Amino acid sequence: MQLTRAGYLADFYVYPGFALALAALALAPAPRPWPALACAAGAGLVTWTLLEYVLHRWLFHRVSWIREQHEAHHRDPQAFVGTPTWLSLLAISALVMLPSLLEWGVAIGSSFTAGLALGYLWYAAVHYAVHHWRATPGSALFRLKRLHAMHHHREAAANFGVTTPFWDRVFRTSSR
Ligand SMILES: [Zn+2]
Ligand SMILES: [Zn+2]
Repeated sequence: MQLTRAGYLADFYVYPGFALALAALALAPAPRPWPALACAAGAGLVTWTLLEYVLHRWLFHRVSWIREQHEAHHRDPQAFVGTPTWLSLLAISALVMLPSLLEWGVAIGSSFTAGLALGYLWYAAVHYAVHHWRATPGSALFRLKRLHAMHHHREAAANFGVTTPFWDRVFRTSSR
């Protein structure tokens, strides 16, 4: 979706607040089961990396209306084309936070969602960086930039992961 500059950057203002609010919710009930809370947050973070792969491969590249939007990003990677913050927040709240709270209770459910929200924030930051920042050859960002550039320009059926190439290796969609 075409966004304004402020709309494009809104993730970076809204998601830290969302994650902090979830962390406060997770830490409110006493006694606090620290190991379980940490595991839930870690699981949320890892779940995001898989979701990032699945959404990019099967939603952004397969579902017609969304694919057209995503192709606009492929053609002009530095344009302010992306998912509006209100939409990602609504989707995470309805499809992740609510079921997690109902299934695991407030503490664990909030912790899991906070981990996933931080994963989304990290994805937004990395995707911004790969298209807007210069990277030193040999650095981690340089490697991610190279993989994502290949996805954009040469091999649209490869390198769906933006923050990590792990799921591309699992699903055998890494570029050669
Ligand atoms: Zn793509
Ligand atoms: Zn991109």
